[in-house]
Amino acid sequence: MIRPGGTIGILGGGQLGRMLTLAALRYGLKVHVFAPEADSPAFDAAAERTCAPYEDEAALTRFARSVEAVTFEHENVPRRTAEIVGRHAPLHPGAAALATAQDRLAEKTFVAGLDLPTAPVRAVASEAEFAEAVAIVGRPAVLKTRRFGYDGKGQVLVEADTDLSQAWGTLWGAPCILEGYVPFESEVSVVAARTATGEFAAYDLCANEHRDHILSMTRVPAGVSPETEQEAVAVARRIAEALDYVGVLAVEMFLVGKHVVVNEIAPRVHNSGHWTIEGARTSQFEQHVRAVCGWPLGSARRLGRAEMRNLVGDDVETWPGVLAEPGAHLHLYGKADARPGRKMGHVTRVEPD
Ligand code: AMP
Repeated sequence: MIRPGGTIGILGGGQLGRMLTLAALRYGLKVHVFAPEADSPAFDAAAERTCAPYEDEAALTRFARSVEAVTFEHENVPRRTAEIVGRHAPLHPGAAALATAQDRLAEKTFVAGLDLPTAPVRAVASEAEFAEAVAIVGRPAVLKTRRFGYDGKGQVLVEADTDLSQAWGTLWGAPCILEGYVPFESEVSVVAARTATGEFAAYDLCANEHRDHILSMTRVPAGVSPETEQEAVAVARRIAEALDYVGVLAVEMFLVGKHVVVNEIAPRVHNSGHWTIEGARTSQFEQHVRAVCGWPLGSARRLGRAEMRNLVGDDVETWPGVLAEPGAHLHLYGKADARPGRKMGHVTRVEPD
């Protein structure tokens, strides 16, 4: 167990790392952030910073030796980086969760292996295999790169009239999966925490809306039946237990009728859980810090009807209006350049139930 005053390490320096750092500070912990980009938002809040590539073994070793445990804020931390760090400090969540979630084929195979519903998939490594996979899976389908996809990057929809050669060309010949299209009504996520002793706490189901493939808004409660919500939480718990997971994870799901279909596992705190900062008794960031430190979890109970809207690109210019609105909670990530599609901040509103 890590005691207040101790130091935890975070791999990755984006807004998730920044908000994790702020939660750790609340508990009297210190944070050492390791990130390759000099302008990382999490550096502003961290007591110690290492700006180095994920391949820099000496820097990784110094970093891991300076902390009592290491976590990460995105799943694209290379496996070798996790291995080097793991030699000197405990890594939570562990290497198995990271390896499963960073490869869409491993992830889908793992979920299907637990007998949980997910889209049919085929591994695709060449244009010829792509054509074969389309013949088997059928159209519509979605071609996705196995690694490094996020916010809809690295994927193409294969419709009835899609030219396969052209579609294959857009993903640079990267190893892919072809996934059957799920005719979903809406998208939801379960954000939950698990500790090394098996304690588990899920937040209420999040209803998510995307714009241009980027999460735009999360609403809680999700407005589904208690049975559907219980099913979704049971699916997330099964996944967390099978991975012997330590920390917060999010399971993104499609809602089809009254049932859920697993889309993706995020082995980290998640954008659809940002509402928990003001909308729940314990935020997802506090829960993650608690789990990483070997502490008991806090209550995941919701405090009201919550709505979280992302400020993407130019949306950030609305900040004066948000400030003027009583009860709107403004979060800005300290990013200098409001490029289109870049998450610059978010706003949470919580109303009594
Ligand atoms: P992902 O990067 O896998 O989360 O996919 C991004 C978005 O693309 C999802 O939030 C869905 O809106 C859509 N999508 C991904 N996979 C599928 C699928 N198999 N069927 C239908 N829509 C999908």
